[in-house]
Amino acid sequence: MDNETNQIVLVVDDSILICKQVQAALKEKPVFVCEAHDGQQAVELIQQYQPDLILLDVVLPDADGYELIEKLKEADQNDAMIIFLTSKDKDDDVVRGFSLGACDYIKKPFVQAELRSRVCAHLKMKIQKDELNRQNKELKSNMEKLNYMAFRDGLTGLYNRRYVVGDLMEDIHRKESGERKNVLILADIDDFKVINDTYGHDAGDMALVCIANILEANCRGHKVVRWGGEEFLIVLFNVTTQEAYQVSEAIRREVENFRIFHDDGEFSCTITLGLHAYKEKEGIEESINCADKALYQGKRSGKNRSIWYGCEE
Ligand code: GH3
Ligand code: MG
Ligand code: MG
Repeated sequence: MDNETNQIVLVVDDSILICKQVQAALKEKPVFVCEAHDGQQAVELIQQYQPDLILLDVVLPDADGYELIEKLKEADQNDAMIIFLTSKDKDDDVVRGFSLGACDYIKKPFVQAELRSRVCAHLKMKIQKDELNRQNKELKSNMEKLNYMAFRDGLTGLYNRRYVVGDLMEDIHRKESGERKNVLILADIDDFKVINDTYGHDAGDMALVCIANILEANCRGHKVVRWGGEEFLIVLFNVTTQEAYQVSEAIRREVENFRIFHDDGEFSCTITLGLHAYKEKEGIEESINCADKALYQGKRSGKNRSIWYGCEE
């Protein structure tokens, strides 16, 4: 019986004699045995000790063990194994005990060696159950992290392109309503190559992070995706075209006015934004394509501007 030095067994029985017999049966084993002599005390001790295993009598001075079991489970944060230890020996009693969630049923009077074997077997299983639960939790938490990372860009923490393939379509359809539209904006930093060449790649990275923050701050409740190197896809859900344009311009101005400090100086960037209202019949790819064409138009006509697809300057 390795690893079970710290395991705790709670005996719930109003008979001091039975408690003594259980203590005697387990005295050679590395377990701590505590005793409760009524239902109320059992609840208190469970809260205090969070035992691994409970030996539960059915006939108690203040409670019926079958009914008590629910109360005990509420107090139990440790998912303890429960064994009925009772003189109620009819087949129906045994069946009821198991149906209430007990893992075993021992009839009084019991043989000490048998009780010891059963308790030890269940304590062993409890260790395995705890380990499985721990592994399950770890797995779940790792899956959540992986899932998060799979859809996030490492540098900026924004959604990455994979998100567009997966959850974006769902979001777009969920948030569609009447006159209001889902507007796609493709935003690209102007002359970013020059910024990298002039101030260095790290300064360029810093600019990307600063701009990502500005985009997120202006798009609460919407979605911002790092679409490519220095290109961002913004999805504004359920907005009028006017509102979309206002957001786009607010972003553009804020980026233009934002000073980025690096080793021995400061600089600022501008961005160009191409807008297009998502159309279901076009599909996401074609809709993004239209926003891209608007962006290209914006670049050609002088950069640092917001421009709708289909609108010549
Ligand atoms: P335009 O105004 O036409 O958009 O010109 P541009 O220089 O911004 O565009 P171009 O496509 O010529 O260059 C983009 C540059 O962005 C080149 C590439 O090295 C840089 N870049 C892409 N990803 C990153 C990144 O993660 N970090 C940094 N620092 N630079 C990046
Ligand atoms: Mg660029
Ligand atoms: Mg680009």
